Parts: sequence; C-alpha cells; structure tokens
Amino acid sequence: MAWGGGGGWGGGSGGGGFGGGGTAAGLPFGGIPSELMAEASKLMAMEPPHPPSNRTFHQRPDARERQPLTLPSMLREFPLYVILGSLLVIGVSLVAQVGPLLTEYAINNGMTVGHRSLRIIAVCASAYLLLALVGVYLQRVQTTVTGTLASRVMRNLRVRVFTHLQRLSLDFFTDEKTGVLMSRMTSDIENLQQLIQDGISSFAVQGLTMVVIAVVLFTTNVTLALWTIAVIVPILVGFSLWFHRASERGYLLVRDRIANVLADLSESLYGIRVVTSNNRQKRNIRNHRHVVGAYRDANMYTGRINAVYGPATIMVGILGQGLLLGIGGQMVIRHQLTIGALVAFFLYLNRFFGPIQLLVQQYNLLQQGRSSVIRLRELLETPPSVDEVPDAATLPEISGRLTFENVGFAYLEGRPVLHGVNLDIAPGESVAFVGPTGAGKSTLAKLANRFYDPTEGRVLIDGIDITTVTLHSLRSQLGVVPQEPFLFAGSIRSNVRFGRPSASDEEIDEAVDVVGLRDLVDRLPDGLDTVVHERGQTLSAGERQLLALARAFLARPRVLILDEATSSLDLQSETIIERALDRILEGRSAILIAHRLTTAQRADRIVVVDHGGIVEMGTPAELLNAGGAYATMYEAWLASGGRDGTRPAS
Ligand code: ATP
Repeated sequence: MAWGGGGGWGGGSGGGGFGGGGTAAGLPFGGIPSELMAEASKLMAMEPPHPPSNRTFHQRPDARERQPLTLPSMLREFPLYVILGSLLVIGVSLVAQVGPLLTEYAINNGMTVGHRSLRIIAVCASAYLLLALVGVYLQRVQTTVTGTLASRVMRNLRVRVFTHLQRLSLDFFTDEKTGVLMSRMTSDIENLQQLIQDGISSFAVQGLTMVVIAVVLFTTNVTLALWTIAVIVPILVGFSLWFHRASERGYLLVRDRIANVLADLSESLYGIRVVTSNNRQKRNIRNHRHVVGAYRDANMYTGRINAVYGPATIMVGILGQGLLLGIGGQMVIRHQLTIGALVAFFLYLNRFFGPIQLLVQQYNLLQQGRSSVIRLRELLETPPSVDEVPDAATLPEISGRLTFENVGFAYLEGRPVLHGVNLDIAPGESVAFVGPTGAGKSTLAKLANRFYDPTEGRVLIDGIDITTVTLHSLRSQLGVVPQEPFLFAGSIRSNVRFGRPSASDEEIDEAVDVVGLRDLVDRLPDGLDTVVHERGQTLSAGERQLLALARAFLARPRVLILDEATSSLDLQSETIIERALDRILEGRSAILIAHRLTTAQRADRIVVVDHGGIVEMGTPAELLNAGGAYATMYEAWLASGGRDGTRPAS
C-alpha cells in the first residue's frame, strides 16, 4: 500500500522564480533560452509588483473562513466596489429610460398639429444623443468596476478553497477524484466569476429598468399600465417559476457531470502508461464517450428548458403588445390618450419586455453560478477528519519515544484493519515492520503522523497523546519517506530542499553525498539544477527513493517513517540505499516498513504484523532463533535467492 500524495512534512516548495537564464534552481520548466532573454526581461519589467504574500497557514480556519460561502458574503469583502458598482448600475438604468420621455415630449410639443417646433425637436434630439453618450460612458466605467470586483472576489475564493484543501485529511483525497476537485477549482470558480462580472450587474440593471419602467408606465397611462401588470406579468411570473425549478435541477446535473468528465480525463492521463501497456485505449474511449454522453444529456436537458422558456416569454410579450395596441388605439380615438403618450408607452413596453428576455438569458448564468456556489460551499464545509483540538499545544522537542497503546483502526466502519496493537519504540531505536501484503503495516505507520486517527486506543510520542498537539509541530518532528516518493516539477535541488526550505546549498550538497546520489547528479547535464518532470518520471524508482531519503536527511526529523519501495532494485542500488539508511537512521527512532528482509535485518527490532495485529516481536537474532513466523519468512526468502550477508550468528 502506497502512502498517498507526497512526503509528510509541512513546508513550502523549494522556491522558484525568474532565474537569470538557464535552469535556475526551482524553475519549473527548462529555463529561458538566451536569445529570448532580452524580450522576457522587457516583459517582466512591465509586470506589476507582486510582493511576497504575508498569508500564513493555520490548521484551524479563522472566523471569516468559517462563514458559510454565499455570494453576499463574498461581495462584502469589497464594500467600496459594491457601492460604486451599484451606483453606476442605477445611473445606467435611469439614463437609459429618459429617451422615450424625450420622444413623447418631441411628438406632443413639436410634431402635432398646432404644436410644430423645429427647435423643440432639435433640443430633444440633441439631449437624446447626449444622454446616449453619457449612458455608454457610465456603462464602460461600470464594466471596469464590476470586472475588477469579480477578479478580486475570485482571487480570494481560489485562495480560500485551496487553503481548505490543504487542511483536509488523507481520506478525503482517497475518496474524492482529483478531476472533480479540479473542476471545482476551475469551471465552478469561473462560473462565479462570470456571474459577478456580467450576471449580477446585468441582473440589477434589468431589474431596476423594469421597476423604473413600471413607474413610468403608470404615470403615462394608468389603464394601459394596469392591463400590462394584471394580465401579462402574472403569465410571465408563472413561466419563470417553472423555469427556475427546472433549470436549477438541470444546472446541478451539468456541474456534476462536467466534474465526472474532468475526473475521467485526469485519471486517463495520469494512468496513460498502464492504459497503453494493457491495450485499454478502446475501452477507455468507450468509457469517456459514456461520461461525455451523460454531460451532453445534461446540457441538452437545460437546452430544452431554455428552448421552451425563451420563445414562450417572447410570445407572451407579442400577444400583450397586440392587446395593448387595440386598447390604446381606441383610447387615442376617444381622446383619452395623446399619440405621443401611446408611442412612448409602446417604446417603454418594448423596454419592459426587453429586460425580461435578457433576464431569461442571464438567468442561466445565475443558475450556473448558484450551482457552483452550492458545490463550493459543500467542499468548504467538509471538515478534515483528522483535525486539531481547539487548544492544541505545540509538541516540545521530542526525544523520539513512540508508543502505540491498544490501537485499533478501520478505514471503513465495521471492517477493522488493525486491532489491539501495543508497541513501544525507544528513542533512537529502529523497528522494522514485516509481514504479508495487506497486513496493516503501512496503516500502522500512517497513524503515527496522524494521516488517520486510531478508532481505538492512542498513539503517544514521548508520552504525549498526539491528538492533543498541533499537526504542524507533530509533523515537523516526524519524517515520512513514502513508498512512491512524489517529486515536484523543478530542479533536483528544489526537490531535495522541500525537506527544509531554509537549507543552504552546502547542506543540500551534504544530503546528496550522504545518501549516495552524487554519482547520479554528476551524470546529469546540469547537475543539481537538472529539471525533473512532475512526479519524477524521468528518474528510476531507486533514484526517486534516494532523493526522498536526501529530503529526509535534510529535514532531520526525530522520528523517521520509511515505507520501503516494493519494486525490486538491482544489487548496487540496494547497497546504496542500505548505506544511505544507515547514515540517516543514526541516532533517530524509525519505523521501517521493510519489503526487503536485508532492511529488516539491519533494524534493532523486528515486528511481524499479520491480519492487523502484531504476531511476533524481537531482535533479528531472537526471531531467527525462535523459529516462528519471521524465521519461516527468512528461510523462504533465502531459498528464493535473498542475500544472507546480514544474517546474525544464531
Ligand atoms: P503492503 O505490504 O502491500 O504495503 P500493508 O501491510 O502495508 O501492505 P496496508 O496498506 O496497511 O497494508 O493495508 C491494510 C489493509 O487496509 C488492506 O487490506 C488494505 O486493502 C486496506 N486499506 C488500505 N488503505 C485503505 C483505504 N484508504 N481505504 C480502505 N481500505 C484500505
């Protein structure tokens, strides 16, 4: 069983940045070719300053981070932008509605019999033009303000979601697919950005426009306005309620299914080597067609709803206009209404229905945004299963005594994988866990640095229950070398430095020498600054494990947990790793999950784990002499070609 994710200790990546050409330490990619350097420098000079972030990480969220995620709570962080944006929205809505009033005035006072005046027409036309220009300008400023607001809100949200992901425990990442999380961080957040940038302001402008027009309609003619409000509006409201319910369901479905598409995509890309070597491409494509098809179905469902709602509202508008033309025309003949007022009424009526249709289109944006808020809120409200107690103390510097006290554990309720484990590891003692695959060795080690908490019993360090101390202080004194070490895209130097970001270049050199990586580094084109690609795919399994050991050496933890790589290494690599281990283990307590019995033989004590419990425990010599489970395992190993170089005298 591999240790999910990267190494166990906290701390940032080994820094990076814009190096002076070539492959600077920590630069994630191959560096900037010298011929592009001048251009790149010019571009960098134009970049606004990005001062280092003063953000610190706390395992427990502060009061602001504990607030449920809602659109208003996100907007409240930028009150000035919200106030300015709202004022501009009001300005845009009001300015846009003066046009028909000017038209009415120009018709009634400049164009009708007895009231012909070129001057009035010219003044009204000029005012119309001027107001249009003011409207365009206001709209431009408003778009800039809401765009800035959206960018800032999204930046905070991205950091908040990312920070929350850093807090969550290992089981969350085991259960949740990476692709689904990626979709939360990308498409869900982008939906919200769109909503804040265009949706809300447009919604506000259109909503306000409708209110303004409703008032103007009543002041223009009460009878016509009453017909509009009493007959046309209720039908539209009825349609909108139906649409609201149907589209909310539809957009939640769309969000879930796009997350599935991304999950399938990321899994296929991550596992491309396995897919290719097992000739699974055809089956993979079939599977992808299936998830993409489900996504298409969800989109088609929302499309069908829109296809009914959009034209239906247009139809209601047209029928309403016909009705009002009949009623208004009769009123003009009976001199109950001027022609100017009827024209203005119709101009306003169009503007009354226009926003309704726009609102329908914007409603999709609102629905998508709402679904995204719901999904993101769910994510932010997922508590870490391994959390700090509110008054967690800082673990003082430890001597390294590790105690498992009647420990039991189950990943899934009712299916225990560990039971009744009692073990005391003395400071400086190295203990090897051996046993069949799936016995519970890795799980036991995972409990020591709180990747999980035991379901029964306690784990103590120097006599202190580890659930009572801060995770940071615990993990900074415990080092983990996982079975499949994770390397980040960047130089070898930055990957080693991950163990202790403050380490000097000399200390990194020392770590590389101690673990025996020097030969490899010397063979590489840029030495320690050679870039390894994400997950270290360009290195061999043995080299990756050595690099992880160098990290561990640099971090100098008091207790080291090493999950040995299961892949068999050649004799030379094995010897190098064994030598590295001897140096690293000097003076520190260690749990070695040993897959090679040569490693177990070097430990001070061996613990045989089987079926979730300890079945045998003792020094290598004691266990071999006892002739129990370990001795049988050892004989079988020797018979299959294992090396006997470390067999103690019995
Ligand atoms: P190996 O030598 O192969 O690494 P191990 O002794 O380290 O094996 P563990 O990884 O501790 O075994 O696993 C113990 C049991 O717990 C196994 O039956 C495994 O299937 C189960 N298990 C491990 N991880 C999980 C998980 N995240 N969810 C559910 N069950 C799990």
